Amino acid sequence: MKKALAILGSTGSIGKQALEVVSIFPSRLRVAAFAAKDEVDLIAEQVKKFQPRLISVLNDDVKAKVEAKLAGAKVEIYTGTDGLMKVATVADAKTVLVAIPGSLALSAALAAVKLKKDIALATKEVLVAAGELFMNEVKAAGVKLFPIDSEHSAIAQCLRGEDKKTVRKLILTASGGPFLKTPAEKFAQLTAKEALKHPTWKMGPKITIDSATLMNKGFEVIEAHFLFGIDYANIEVVIHPESIIHSMVEFVDGSLKAQLGAPDMRVPIQYALLEEERQANHWGRLDLTKVAGLTFQKPELTKFPCLQYAYDAGKAKGTLPAVLNAVNEEAVSQFLKGKFNFDQIPAKIKAVLDKHQNKEAANLEEILAADREARNIFGL
Ligand code: MG
Repeated sequence: MKKALAILGSTGSIGKQALEVVSIFPSRLRVAAFAAKDEVDLIAEQVKKFQPRLISVLNDDVKAKVEAKLAGAKVEIYTGTDGLMKVATVADAKTVLVAIPGSLALSAALAAVKLKKDIALATKEVLVAAGELFMNEVKAAGVKLFPIDSEHSAIAQCLRGEDKKTVRKLILTASGGPFLKTPAEKFAQLTAKEALKHPTWKMGPKITIDSATLMNKGFEVIEAHFLFGIDYANIEVVIHPESIIHSMVEFVDGSLKAQLGAPDMRVPIQYALLEEERQANHWGRLDLTKVAGLTFQKPELTKFPCLQYAYDAGKAKGTLPAVLNAVNEEAVSQFLKGKFNFDQIPAKIKAVLDKHQNKEAANLEEILAADREARNIFGL
């Protein structure tokens, strides 16, 4: 039977690649609904190709433009946050792919879980800002959670068939970003243009900057903690610039399992959407004889303090991880606008973290309030 998907963020990098996966497996997957922002041509094209029953777009203006392009095609079009929620909770979808940034993703993912929908999770904010709350809801609803990230997909694959009690540590690999070899003294001169050149992965601007600061890896540490139930002390980050090994697990007997492959997000997306069933790969394959070598090094925490901030916030729990996520989003957005240079990103984040009075994150409202407060402090 075909599995129906709701895709939150169909025009983003992950959403577009997920739709490629859907078109490779037409007998397995279909799109029941999707939410996108304002890329009118692409939205209209996606409606024609994937024939969802309903979609959501940013606002009425975008809706009118999409309708004009569709010339009577049968699709219900909704707008704004209400529309996004309609997509996340659409009756026939078994799985909701969450690939939109920000706190909207959090509310939408929680609503989908409450309706017992499985989640394919690409948005980092969900587990970073509300990991405990979200995992409790996932457990209570008894739904499946499939990570869409090369690292977490790799770890899930390494853990297959293993007893979790035999895990010694998770080893997340990091490319190191574009400034791995740049001396820290030069960071004060670096602008968004230089930071947007990621060495291996093609991604959106926000996550590309997060890769350059290593905040992305810090967020992945927090996600790994929640996804796999492993203590922070047993999650290690190793810089691996070739991005061939997507992550590893070390077991108590000293054995390491690694997952390797061509750096192509469609592979973990396919693995997640097909619920961890292995099917032929239609994209690139890894030719080991063409790999010159695999190298590893320790991350330099003084040079990339954002990774440390993520470990600290994760261990502190409460509202601090939500604050970290919010203030990082603000800092990256300002950096991308050219308001300051690369060295100021961690400094601005640290200033807000230091001011935050950490408290228990008992419900979504408290998490969202901490998020708002952090953004306000950042703006002062
Ligand atoms: Mg990743």
